[in-house]
Amino acid sequence: MSYSPYLLKDQKALVTGASSGIGEAIARYLASSGAAVAINYHSEAESAQKIVDDIQANNGEALAIQADVSKEDQVKAMFSQVLNQFGTIDILVNNAGIQKDSAFVDMTLDHWNAVIGVNLTGQFLCAREAAKEFLRRGVQPHISCAAGKIICISSVHEVIPWAGHVNYAASKGGINMMMQSIAQELAPHKIRVNSIAPGAIKTPINTSAWDTPEAEAKLLQLIPAKRVGNVADIAKAAVWLASDDSDYVNGTTIFVDGGMTLYPGFTENG
Ligand code: NAD
Repeated sequence: MSYSPYLLKDQKALVTGASSGIGEAIARYLASSGAAVAINYHSEAESAQKIVDDIQANNGEALAIQADVSKEDQVKAMFSQVLNQFGTIDILVNNAGIQKDSAFVDMTLDHWNAVIGVNLTGQFLCAREAAKEFLRRGVQPHISCAAGKIICISSVHEVIPWAGHVNYAASKGGINMMMQSIAQELAPHKIRVNSIAPGAIKTPINTSAWDTPEAEAKLLQLIPAKRVGNVADIAKAAVWLASDDSDYVNGTTIFVDGGMTLYPGFTENG
């Protein structure tokens, strides 16, 4: 994986839930674009360290930080560690997310709270800590024309209702309004806040949706592009949103979904 090694030169980034899947790819792409990257992980210490080692072997800068993003004290400690190590932060990628699926009437309060806690509260807590540092430091024109960039990993389910996944869809719908409201509030300070809404991407979170030919064929009926996405599709969009190439993009969601939100069921007149 490679990108212009100067695009994000001297910028400092934190990616949450970066020990696997989309977060891992974003962390690797940010690093190969020149950013120093903090790899947040929840429980996969070995995977996180392997990513750090790989980045360092390519002359990049990285560190792994354990934290549960749904816990305020752990998020604050994680940001202290990032600021101690890197001096500041320029890019936050709010990626950590979980699913706990069930029929609506069987959904426990624990499963509701767990998903909202990681997917929505976790993004709020991390965005707030990042914004404090962006505001304290302000713009450094030799680094970036923004005082900071926040990228929220949402989902097509911020707009597509999802039976059997009410907690997940509610968390992703919530991210949209949270992202836009933060963007509206902080835009005058030259802080940019945007979301990426992935469609179906092959990662551990959704293995059962693509790991047999039958499952993949069923999934492809929902994707006009007729391929399941890969983590690089999302990572490339994240690098662009983190860079000054997207300086006039603020408060929006970029759908990287092979057209999943085009309602393919209506192709033949519904
Ligand atoms: P994944 O399971 O590989 O990644 C999720 C990551 O979040 C894991 O590394 C996990 O350890 C971490 N995590 C879970 N709880 C955490 C916590 N409390 N604190 C910190 N980290 C925690 O799956 P993925 O597909 O790479 O998911 C990444 C993001 O992309 C999620 O927000 C997910 O909702 C979103 N997304 C994925 C798809 C897809 O098709 N894969 C589609 C739309 C949106």
